[in-house]
Amino acid sequence: MRCNLLLAALSVCFCRCGLAAIVQVDRSLDGQVQLRETVPPLQMKLVPIGTWRTGDQLAIRIVASNEVYNDITACIVSADAAKEYRAGSPCEGSFRSKTPIVIKSTVAESGSKSLILDNSYAEFITKNIVISLRYRKSLTDNELTKIQAPLEKIQSNLSAIFKGADFNLYVKSCGQSNAFSDHNTADITFCWELIQEFVAQNNNGALVATLLHEYGHSLLNRWGEPGSSEEDMADQFATVMLLKGGDNGRRMLQQWIQSWIKRDSKAEAMNQLQRGDTHSLSIQRARNIQNAMNFPEDLTRRWNKMLYRHMTTDTLDKIIRNPSKSDDVDLAKEARM
Ligand SMILES: [Zn+2]
Repeated sequence: MRCNLLLAALSVCFCRCGLAAIVQVDRSLDGQVQLRETVPPLQMKLVPIGTWRTGDQLAIRIVASNEVYNDITACIVSADAAKEYRAGSPCEGSFRSKTPIVIKSTVAESGSKSLILDNSYAEFITKNIVISLRYRKSLTDNELTKIQAPLEKIQSNLSAIFKGADFNLYVKSCGQSNAFSDHNTADITFCWELIQEFVAQNNNGALVATLLHEYGHSLLNRWGEPGSSEEDMADQFATVMLLKGGDNGRRMLQQWIQSWIKRDSKAEAMNQLQRGDTHSLSIQRARNIQNAMNFPEDLTRRWNKMLYRHMTTDTLDKIIRNPSKSDDVDLAKEARM
């Protein structure tokens, strides 16, 4: 986990501490990866499947999409043993078996592992293989702290800025790549799957913006303001908070835009027609953020009218003493009374 990514987010917030709620990071981390490989006849492939620690659990499903000859040898070895591997060497898995093959393994010895796909016994048939790797691993104390500490910092900063931010933040595996704000409690769940997706993309901005989007839902809900369930409102809250964060915040917004542009808006549109969705299409979300960045004071000043009413006295005093370009001192004084 590249947790220094989150640390960079801290400069976007005013700094004041005062934890009122918990940040709970689930030590058990589930995940899933899918890979595709083509293995020609008379050949084998070593597929690196990551570094694991003793006790981590792996479940690998191997499917050859060939209509008739859908067999393969598939087994797991340590990265060191993989270099020495020859057909028939000791290996944890199935040999010349029809697929699907499922290998379930609890890691006995920490280290890098490889999946061997051995088609060397086949003389003519290339095997087209789909590998689905599911895993469950436990974070070390160090890894846990690295993710929890910056999240606690973000939460404490927001609690210092706004009244009513005393809800909890949970990080856990959800079985899907998502984040939620609970309508009843305002508690936020940030799924490991989504965090890992952003980390894999090296997209810290999207990670922080997504967290702020959920804070937008939760805070509007807590304040009893209209629009707490609306996705565009939550996007605007995140955008305004990052615009208030200066250059660092703008960089994060650019990264957030990139994460939306990468998505398949045509597929989303089809899904919306068939099933409905309260989110704007990703491409539109990207455009909305870009528009806000083009006219940052326009959006921020509109939001100030609501945000100031829910800011702590300390934060309003700070604005009155040292306003930024997008602040409105008279409005802050009015909210302060
Ligand atoms: Zn949302």
